[in-house]
Amino acid sequence: MTEDNSFNSANWAEKDQTYLWHPFTPMSQWLSELPLVIEAGDGFELIDTQGRRYIDGVSSLWCNLHGHRAKPIDAALTNQLRKIAHSTLLGLGSVPSIELAERLVRISPEPLKKVFYSDSGATAVEVALKMAFQYYKNLNQPRRRRFLALRESYHGDTIGAVSLGGIETFHRLFRPLLFETTFVATPNQYHHPAGEQAGQVVLQQIDEILAAAPGAYCAVILEPLIQGAGGMLTHPPGFLAGVRDITHQHDVLLIADEVATGFCRTGKLFACQHENVCPDLMCLGKGLTGGYLPVAATLATQDLFEAFCAPAEQGKTFYHGHTFTGNALGCAAGSASIDWIFQSDLLARLGEKISLIRCHLEALADHPHVGDIRQCGMMVGIELVRNRKTRQPFDPARRVGASLCHHARKFGLLIRPLGDVVVLMPAPAMDLTTLQQMLNAVKDTIHEYFASQSV
Ligand code: PLP
Repeated sequence: MTEDNSFNSANWAEKDQTYLWHPFTPMSQWLSELPLVIEAGDGFELIDTQGRRYIDGVSSLWCNLHGHRAKPIDAALTNQLRKIAHSTLLGLGSVPSIELAERLVRISPEPLKKVFYSDSGATAVEVALKMAFQYYKNLNQPRRRRFLALRESYHGDTIGAVSLGGIETFHRLFRPLLFETTFVATPNQYHHPAGEQAGQVVLQQIDEILAAAPGAYCAVILEPLIQGAGGMLTHPPGFLAGVRDITHQHDVLLIADEVATGFCRTGKLFACQHENVCPDLMCLGKGLTGGYLPVAATLATQDLFEAFCAPAEQGKTFYHGHTFTGNALGCAAGSASIDWIFQSDLLARLGEKISLIRCHLEALADHPHVGDIRQCGMMVGIELVRNRKTRQPFDPARRVGASLCHHARKFGLLIRPLGDVVVLMPAPAMDLTTLQQMLNAVKDTIHEYFASQSV
């Protein structure tokens, strides 16, 4: 404790540097210039401590759905605060957690019937993988303990979720701490040597792996349609449904990690619905509360749930939980957000926005430093390369993606890259005018940035 007890300082940027350690951030670089500090939000804009406004181009790390300070969610929170902020789900029920669970089951693919809450995307994945593992133990098939995942996949940063993750830059260091997972290549056509055949090649590989080890795998996990953190790697149509067929054939569970894709990001409520796929376990987070509070959920089928229903002495109970599981404020926000998705007719208005994004980005397709543009609904990745023809990447040490995104601030836009992939993930409710402004800012940024750089 210092002598100075005043906490009301205008020096937010300096205090940030003094006290904080930021996630996924090379801190030496962070400390080399004063950071931008956000003080407020208004619709689809973020407002910094200097009063400057920026379009929130990645919806506050892919979670905001309806804009900031959305009236229906603000009101639900105020209302809930008048009752209670939190009570435990260990040994007790709570009204908001029931209200949200009922909504989640009603809107999710049909066989998903039970909701298990946690508090982040990573914990939703931990829950799913522990459930899958224990499911086969409870069924007396203890040899089924392996997981299969895609390279470049990302499922969160806890140790179990990292074990299922395939992004070398994030995950390599921790390999000695992890359980062993089988990885197959991403079926993204730009990144897979088989190009247009990538989907079929990877499906065949999954089939062969599962066939070669009968009774050894408990689940396949994937991000349906698009691998977000791996660089917005889109999958070819039919890939998801193909994986579902194969997992059925081999009696292996399918875990759909819809943490990023869920809640309207891909043009439907859930990505699985594009291919009529019903997973055995579905992980939700991020947009579940409209991007307001850290609530996540793992949805399970009735069949899976019943394997855990036995007298306690049989040892089939799922011993997992978190203090804030089913938090009342978070669940109230979640119910209000889901209701608002339907009341505001959000899904019906997505098609126009998705087309607008596609049209605008076509103008960048021939840019000499744009290697690939990938879009799945409202999720976009623009891959920057040194040489478009040879696909030669930039030297990662130059951090071109990060520096280009920094440049976008000049155009009133806040975006964040994944390596040299510029990510755009506007809130699904963003109005057409703001969306257009955002897309113009992206084009201006890319043109001006490369015109001023020697590459
Ligand atoms: N799964 C996917 C597909 C994600 O994209 C993310 C986060 O980006 C996570 C899991 C982890 O979510 P959280 O950051 O809330 O732990």
